[in-house]
Amino acid sequence: MTNQKNTNTTLLARREKAIPSGVGNIHQIFAQSANNASINDVDGTEYIDFTSGIAVVNTGHLHPQVTAAVSKQLELFSHTCFHVLMHENYIELAERLNIIAPGSSPKQTFFVTTGAEAVENAIKISRAATKRSAVIAFSGAFHGRTLMAVSLTGKVTPYKKGFGPLAPEVFHAPFPNPLHGISTEDALNGLQNIFKHDIDAERVSAIIIEPVQGEGGFYVAPKEFMKALRQVCDDHGILLICDEVQTGCARTGKMFATEYSDIEPDIMVLAKGLAGGFPLSAVVGKKSVMESVDAGGIGGTYAGSPIAIAAAIATLDVIEEEGLAQRANVIGKIIKARLKELSNHIPTIGDIRGLGAMVAMELFDSEKQPAVQLTKDIVKRSSEKGLLLLPCGVHGNVIRFLTPLTIEEELLDRGLNILEEVLNELV
Ligand code: PMP
Repeated sequence: MTNQKNTNTTLLARREKAIPSGVGNIHQIFAQSANNASINDVDGTEYIDFTSGIAVVNTGHLHPQVTAAVSKQLELFSHTCFHVLMHENYIELAERLNIIAPGSSPKQTFFVTTGAEAVENAIKISRAATKRSAVIAFSGAFHGRTLMAVSLTGKVTPYKKGFGPLAPEVFHAPFPNPLHGISTEDALNGLQNIFKHDIDAERVSAIIIEPVQGEGGFYVAPKEFMKALRQVCDDHGILLICDEVQTGCARTGKMFATEYSDIEPDIMVLAKGLAGGFPLSAVVGKKSVMESVDAGGIGGTYAGSPIAIAAAIATLDVIEEEGLAQRANVIGKIIKARLKELSNHIPTIGDIRGLGAMVAMELFDSEKQPAVQLTKDIVKRSSEKGLLLLPCGVHGNVIRFLTPLTIEEELLDRGLNILEEVLNELV
């Protein structure tokens, strides 16, 4: 309920007392209401949202079709627990994902609630399917904060620090990143080195990769690297898991970023953009792999919430009907063109990259070192001027652009104008 006396300042004071600081906050702002790509805070300030709640509301805040589907579901039932009583929408959503998932093998899908939970389940299933235990992930990866997911995550501070012992038999290969001196060949050699020095390839159950690293800095895995990984997996009977939690659901200009590589993963995990702002994640995999778990081995009380599933069905409809994958490409082009223009007179913008509307700029100082403080200052100053941005990157010097795919072009331009003003002011 709205309390007239609430302001960002009063709520922040309460937040600091009631909630641990380990729950980090990018912006010291409290939301009051949101619509498509705008958010109002409790002080009455309006912001342009270039974050989508970290690539969640790809269909915009409160898309009318999504809220209508949720309202309709709330008139029927909100919860049964799928293990107790099943419901048709769960099947319909699984059927749709099985059809649109990359590759032609027959697929099966089940639902959980968060990205990390989907990752955990993908690993459990790959172990059950292969009867092997080891897992390989990549440096700079982010797969979530639960213990297996954080073990797979390739960044120590703040994600792993103090939380050990982490899961055993998790190894990290280098992610290809030419900007930071790692070629595709180096990355593939790094993987072979793991087989040579750390673990027999025949003991590895899965390799998990983000087709575009998200939190790590929006580095795109080259097609030849993804194809080579597929080959390595096939050569050694290892399963390939694509973590499409951040890249999925039209964000990168295709429904799934894996499609850019023309490969078929054995398992794909989805969350974030899947349900237009409601908590839902999915594990989609080859039927032969997904069938390897005994009844009761996977699932959960809230797994596949009827409300979130109704939202997800409506979200997929909106993505298709409004052509949001194509829209992502248009938005990405507009953002990249503006950043390119700015980089002509602002050399601090050292790299502009991404797929579709998953765009980032990486900032370096005059010594070519990561411009970490400047990145923080840009995010802060932009929010003071009404633009919400998100930083990312293992070095903390990347600003990522994750607008809703439904953002009005006029608002997109206004947001980019604010960014331009801030860059001219700070650099
Ligand atoms: N995988 C990727 C690629 C992600 O970007 C994230 C979240 N940023 C996760 C997994 C974890 O998702 P969640 O926060 O919903 O657990």
